[in-house]
Amino acid sequence: MTSPMVASRTRLEVANEASDLHRSRLTGRWAVQLGAVLFVPHGKYLDATRIFQLHVPQGFGSMMFTHLASRTVYVDNDRYMGTEWLGHWMAHELGHLASNSTKEGDAEKVAREYRKRLKQSLVAKSH
Ligand SMILES: [Zn+2]
Repeated sequence: MTSPMVASRTRLEVANEASDLHRSRLTGRWAVQLGAVLFVPHGKYLDATRIFQLHVPQGFGSMMFTHLASRTVYVDNDRYMGTEWLGHWMAHELGHLASNSTKEGDAEKVAREYRKRLKQSLVAKSH
């Protein structure tokens, strides 16, 4: 699950999903500019959370977080649990970016919409 190959492929898919979301004419508060998604080893991830001293999703350990200023999402590669997991939480992080807010409530409000769209696009691709 944590092999670099899997991680880089996932990274690509995430990038594609992000641009899909962007292309599907998300306007106003749904539009999101994603800087980068970085998959880093656990030690580096902890370093990053210390350096930035910022947002880590509450109640779900520290598996990924968003640095709003650089619009970068950091993912702890050692806790990677598959594409479904990634899609679910990436939606949350994109929610932070779209709302430009560190509040969980704001992020989740937008994330629900992203998850709906992600599900629709996955269903569309399987037909
Ligand atoms: Zn959050």
